[in-house]
Parts: sequence; C-alpha cells; structure tokens
Amino acid sequence: MPSEFDLIRRFFSRPASSALLGVGDDAALIQPAAGTVLAVSTDMLLEGRHFHAGAEPRSLGHKALAVNLSDMAAMGARPRWATLALALPQADETWLAAFSEGLYALAQRFGVDLIGGDTTRGPLAIAVTVIGELPAGRALLRSGARPEDDIWVSGELGGAALALAQLEGRVALAAEDAADAAKRLHAPEPRVVLGERLRELASSAIDVSDGFAGDLQHVLERSAVGARVRYASLPRAAAFAALADARLEAECVLSGGDDYELLFTAAPARRTELEALAAELGVGLARVGSIRAGAPLLELLDAAGRAMPPAHGFDHFRT
Ligand code: ADP
Ligand code: MG
Repeated sequence: MPSEFDLIRRFFSRPASSALLGVGDDAALIQPAAGTVLAVSTDMLLEGRHFHAGAEPRSLGHKALAVNLSDMAAMGARPRWATLALALPQADETWLAAFSEGLYALAQRFGVDLIGGDTTRGPLAIAVTVIGELPAGRALLRSGARPEDDIWVSGELGGAALALAQLEGRVALAAEDAADAAKRLHAPEPRVVLGERLRELASSAIDVSDGFAGDLQHVLERSAVGARVRYASLPRAAAFAALADARLEAECVLSGGDDYELLFTAAPARRTELEALAAELGVGLARVGSIRAGAPLLELLDAAGRAMPPAHGFDHFRT
C-alpha cells in the first residue's frame, strides 16, 4: 500500500517552473509579475453531487481544473498556478494516474503549474484552487454592465444539460449528437484566451456554470440594470434542431448548467472588434440582447417578440 507521500510524489509532483517553490515544502512560493494583481478562485467537485460514482478519472482531472480556469477567464485573468485538495476512498493507482493525466494535460495547455495541495482519505472529493494574474485595475467584474451595452455569449449553450438529460434517460440522441453533448459535460473547454482578450473590450463578464438566465441575473443584480434578450438568438447545440422538443431545449439553453461559456457585456462601439476577435480565435460570439436601465430583471422575448416565461438557474440548495 503506497503512502500518501508516495502518491503525491508519483502523481502530483511534476516540475512547476513558474513557481519559486512548488510541491514538497510546507507551502509553495510564487512571485506575481510587477504591476499585476492576483485572482484567486476555488471550485469543488463532489461525487454524487457534481459527478456520478464511477465517473471516468481522466475527465474528472480535466474538469476539476477546467471549471476553475473558466472562473479565471470570466475575470479576464491569466491562470498561472493551481493547488489540489483531494479526498480519496482508497489509493487506487490506476485511478490516480488517469486523474493526474487529465489534470496535467489541461494545465500544460494553458501554462498552469500545480504547486501544492492536500491528500487525505475520505469520500471522493476534489477541490482545486487557481491563482491567476492580471494588470491591476483591469479585472472583468460582474458589476460593470451599463445601459445600452450589448449582451454576448461565446460558443453554444445547453450541450452539457442535454448530455445530462441523456444520462438520465429523458432523451435519446443520435450517436454523434450524444458524443458532442457528452464532451460538453465531461470535458468542457474553458475560454481562457477569450477571457484575457475581453479585458480590453467587455464591460462585465461571468462564466455560464449554473445556466444562462441565472448567471445573467447575477450580472444584472451586481450592475443594477435590466436586460432584454431574444431567445432565438441564444447560441445552442446543433442537436436541438433534430430533437424538436421545445420545452427541453428551453430548459437546457436557459437553465442548463456546466456549459462554461462566457457571458459578457460590451458597448455597441465594440461590435466590430468583437466580431474580428471571434474570427481570430475561431470561437463563436453571439450578440443576444442588450442591457437596459431599470430593475435587475431579464425580459426574454420569443421569435415573435412576445414575453417568454421566466427561467431559473440551477441552485444547489433548491429542493
Ligand atoms: P503538510 O503536512 O504540510 O500539509 P502534506 O504532507 O499534506 O504537507 O503535503 C506535502 C506536500 O505535497 C506539500 O507541498 C503539499 O502542497 C503537496 N501536496 C499534497 N497533496 C497534493 C496534491 N494532491 N496535489 C499537489 N500537491 C500536493
Ligand atoms: Mg497537508
């Protein structure tokens, strides 16, 4: 039976070249670049709550970091360092090797170093903390949306929720659509590069982790503004067209969690630059509505311009 220290050495001790000191001492040492501030964020994944028992460990390693990188993107920060707190029911080396592989593969793509953590025995739980850098005073806050700003969404919405609906047997997807949706749920691609570029262009941002309507609501409340959104203009997974299930589609697109796209606002004067950025990065950017003066309410319009019923974001404490 390997000791805790053997496990850390074998699976979580790759060199951390961007840290003054990485794994192995009582704390890691990092040095932010001159003129930058640090952005810090933690997200936890629990078995039975955020993933099913028996979930594929490589995907879990990817996703545990991806959800945190998405928070960095939503702040306009460049992710630099991460720590990992892991509770494991047993020291399963095959599981650990795959988990570590998934986490490091994503970390490497974005130049993030794993610099520490904690490992303990217990029900499977994964908490990652990411530390990012950004120029002082330039963070993309939820509070920056202003009346007349456009509302934009990257990529597409609803795919992760659609994969969940398929897992729960609520929908039967064609093989290709099922694979696309599963990728959205298990291997989300955090919009890190886009987030950094939006620092110069957007007035506010949030990542869509709990559903479009709920996450937009956070922006509206923090910015003390309202919004008008055209439902038909929300970008969505292609699979919905074939499904022809308007109710499930609206549920996934408006309230589905786990998409990790960026939802942001920008002045109309930025449209041309944002369209050029979308082309440069090869990421879809859809203009879906606008910010309005007034109470923090989302006015959702259907294709005929009629008001649609309010939708709710995912709430972990809702029964
Ligand atoms: P301490 O007793 O000081 O908490 P630990 O024995 O928990 O130290 O950890 C030893 C070293 O290994 C520390 O540098 C810690 O940051 C690192 N570490 C522990 N678990 C992990 C992990 N899952 N991933 C990365 N680093 C880890
Ligand atoms: Mg410890």
